[in-house]
Amino acid sequence: MLSTEDMAVFCKKKGFIYLNSEIYGGMAGFFDFGPLGVELNNNIKRAFWKEFVQKRDDIIGIDGSIISSPKVWEASGHVENFEDIILKCTKCKEQYRADHIIEDVLKISADGMPSQKINELIKKNNIKCQKCKSELEEISEFNLMFKTNVGPEKGNTAYLRPETAQLIFANFKIVSETSRIKLPFGIAQVGKAFRNEISPRNFLFRCREFEQFEIEFFVNPENFKCPVINEFENMGVNIITSDMQKKNQKEKSMKIKDMIKNKMLNEWQAYWLGSFYNFFTNYGIKKENLRIREHLKEELAHYASACFDIEYKFPFGWKEIHGNADRSDFDLRQHIKHSKKDLSLFDEESKKRVVPCVASEPSQGIGRALLAFMFDAYDDDKKRGNIVLRLDPRLSSYNVAVFPLVNKLDNGSRQVYNALKSKFVCFYDSSGSIGRRYARQDEIGTPYCITYDFDSEKNKDVTIRHRDTTKQKRIKIKDLEDKLLRLINKEINFDEL
Ligand code: ATP
Repeated sequence: MLSTEDMAVFCKKKGFIYLNSEIYGGMAGFFDFGPLGVELNNNIKRAFWKEFVQKRDDIIGIDGSIISSPKVWEASGHVENFEDIILKCTKCKEQYRADHIIEDVLKISADGMPSQKINELIKKNNIKCQKCKSELEEISEFNLMFKTNVGPEKGNTAYLRPETAQLIFANFKIVSETSRIKLPFGIAQVGKAFRNEISPRNFLFRCREFEQFEIEFFVNPENFKCPVINEFENMGVNIITSDMQKKNQKEKSMKIKDMIKNKMLNEWQAYWLGSFYNFFTNYGIKKENLRIREHLKEELAHYASACFDIEYKFPFGWKEIHGNADRSDFDLRQHIKHSKKDLSLFDEESKKRVVPCVASEPSQGIGRALLAFMFDAYDDDKKRGNIVLRLDPRLSSYNVAVFPLVNKLDNGSRQVYNALKSKFVCFYDSSGSIGRRYARQDEIGTPYCITYDFDSEKNKDVTIRHRDTTKQKRIKIKDLEDKLLRLINKEINFDEL
């Protein structure tokens, strides 16, 4: 597998992603999307939004602002608790996130480990600075929220949101009332989040500014039954339970319904884990690179009664790309307490006023999903002699590229290109040999290339080439739009053309 550094170089070279402020030496943990990256990133967000919001009757969307009243973050517990533990080298002053250095050196999960335990482990195992091998200082705690001051007067501290979820809770009452949606239902949001990470690393994996897609799925606290669990209950997933982690076992396949039977999680949490897992495999991630990891008891956040991650097998190990927690009624109750507002709603089924529970909170990082899609798609095809980025056609930056066989045919081929432009994201290329032009599109993941040749002038048809197989077919220009649309949406495959 390609290393993360090489992936970052590839993404820069092709115009997907650049380090922010690079002309000034860069800014750690911040990235900018180039022409191809902005399309890919938007396609990923659109795919999540389409599958989990627009196609469903039980999820509605919002778009909250990045800065909120600081009271939101006091109520949520972020002002007090959203902290990581820092370890500093006494000599070279390198800073480490304590749980990460423990994970790296001792190969055990240390997420959420209390500071006292971390101190003990550092001493017992004589863990030193990874750079210069000097002693590490005693630990200190560091709040990850970025602070800012609102308006010209000093003292109006506010925070850039460290997650999108709290906006959903803060807007819960007005959104549920104005949309007239009935329990069980979810509210979704996609947008930026900011965390002042101690040591951003692994390219897009751990940034200080990133995007999340989160859903809070609310149910009547007395009814966690999921009436649509049959959609996923027979689906097999790779899972590593907390028990298996303690015994150092590898992940194994398990059916969603057996996870429920074993009382590992509630039905809605199983449903949402299953549907996101299914999303990833449906959008092209190989099954062997995906697994679900159950959190160990000591990792669970104070509000969560069960938590699972979907992990991807990155070159730097199995790592979380998606988190899913059963958050109970913790957040709504906190906001009721702090705002002194009634955030209950009337449940039609039980005919009672209830404070709903969040049976499941799917929490998805967009950048981490993008990175997983890129690693999975990247194929250095030795036979072909070029890289083939085998992205799902629904995610690729360009849907289609159009070429004239020779420059003399520019007029006709531009007409084809101009007609497709209003429906597809298209690229026009008339420079270099056809083979070279195909290779360039392979490398950036364009699933289909259209070549306009001398026969096109007479027969009003073109050649369409399939990125994944290099197969080619003739197709009438008048049928192009319809056929391309169906190919990209995977309603037909290339052989059926
Ligand atoms: P980690 O343990 O890796 O720091 P987390 O458990 O704190 O992650 P959550 O708070 O559950 O992460 O956030 C939900 C999702 O947001 C994660 O699954 C991940 O995809 C994304 N995410 C969180 N922190 C970052 C970050 N610093 N950079 C990029 N994506 C992130």
